[in-house]
Amino acid sequence: MVNKINHIGIAVKSIEEALKFYSERLGLKSREVVEIPEQKVKVAALQIGESRIELLESTTPDSPIAKFLEKKGEGIHHLAFEVTDIEKRLKELKEKGIRLIDEKPRQGAHNTRIAFIHPKSTHGVLIELVEKET
Ligand code: ZN
Repeated sequence: MVNKINHIGIAVKSIEEALKFYSERLGLKSREVVEIPEQKVKVAALQIGESRIELLESTTPDSPIAKFLEKKGEGIHHLAFEVTDIEKRLKELKEKGIRLIDEKPRQGAHNTRIAFIHPKSTHGVLIELVEKET
């Protein structure tokens, strides 16, 4: 089951600069900025009710976020849907012929396991599945 929208990922050139709008002007509360070395990003999570916005800043020039910024500029990068039993979901999607970027879940921020579905199979949106670890 897809339970809810867990977060929306926004690619930004600088988290520090972006927080001036999202935190100072808009008044969203930011958790600490965490670095995820495997994905070559820094993430600032801003809580909005049960969901979050995640500001994503590249830490290297060759990261997926750096390439996205180069091609499209700042903006919405992905939607993240919260699921239970991510391994089963991935297996089901694969069996249905959906193109996956990650066939196995990997470690995400804040004790989650995540996997991406290819935009070719989702009508142009990069979708992340998120499972909270208990
Ligand atoms: Zn995400």
